[in-house]
Amino acid sequence: MSIEIAGVSKRFGDFVALDNVSVSIPSGRLTALLGPSGGGKSTLLRIIAGLERADSGRVEIEGVDATDLPPQKRNVGFVFQHYAAFKHMSVRRNVGFGLQIRKRPKDEIRARVDELLKLVHLEQFGERLPAQLSGGQRQRMALARALAVKPTVLLLDEPFGALDAKVRKELRDWLRRLHDEVHVTTVFVTHDQEEALEVADEIVVINDGRIEQVGSPDDLYDRPANDFVMKFLGPVT
Ligand code: ADP
Ligand code: MG
Repeated sequence: MSIEIAGVSKRFGDFVALDNVSVSIPSGRLTALLGPSGGGKSTLLRIIAGLERADSGRVEIEGVDATDLPPQKRNVGFVFQHYAAFKHMSVRRNVGFGLQIRKRPKDEIRARVDELLKLVHLEQFGERLPAQLSGGQRQRMALARALAVKPTVLLLDEPFGALDAKVRKELRDWLRRLHDEVHVTTVFVTHDQEEALEVADEIVVINDGRIEQVGSPDDLYDRPANDFVMKFLGPVT
């Protein structure tokens, strides 16, 4: 099982954002979509999520042809850089929102929210409002909310980009630890080489709407596919 992107192209007017992209993203792993700004990372992630339609090509998610499925039928969870929490709702209600709109029984929601708050160490903060959390705690709430509906795929677009360096580092470790516990197929977008190398099992390097290389952090360092990858990764520190 995997996410299979096959021959996906996307234009915005005359501009080619994705140029016949094919890539296989392995199931149950933590994959970084890494590349410079404007490279097409968010566009590819949005196409996987169903928030954007490719002009051509196919998207398969864990064995299901998702090319024409709307986002709500893809069973994906999202976390974005600027987390849109419901400001007037408690942390608990934010985390349980996806279950509530799916009309899950109250007891089930309560139990699942308890479990998730524990997972992201926010069990003391359930009754607070999002504004009463720190930036890092808010992104942990976002992770819990995205996981609430047990998605087959978790997608994160520069989830820690807006935070300061120390909190970012902390959240990287969180993401890694969470992934090791829930093993959900995860794709996260980043332009930060160090973040990708430190956190990901697998890295997809994308630039100018094309895939430059796919491999483990070691593969990329030991055998960069081309000059672009070598220069982009920079000197080993
Ligand atoms: P990344 O996430 O790697 O920074 P994006 O996927 O957001 O890159 O964007 C790739 C390119 O496509 C950029 O040059 C961006 O300006 C362009 N682009 C993205 N979305 C749109 C849009 N809705 N309309 C026009 N151009 C867009
Ligand atoms: Mg982006």
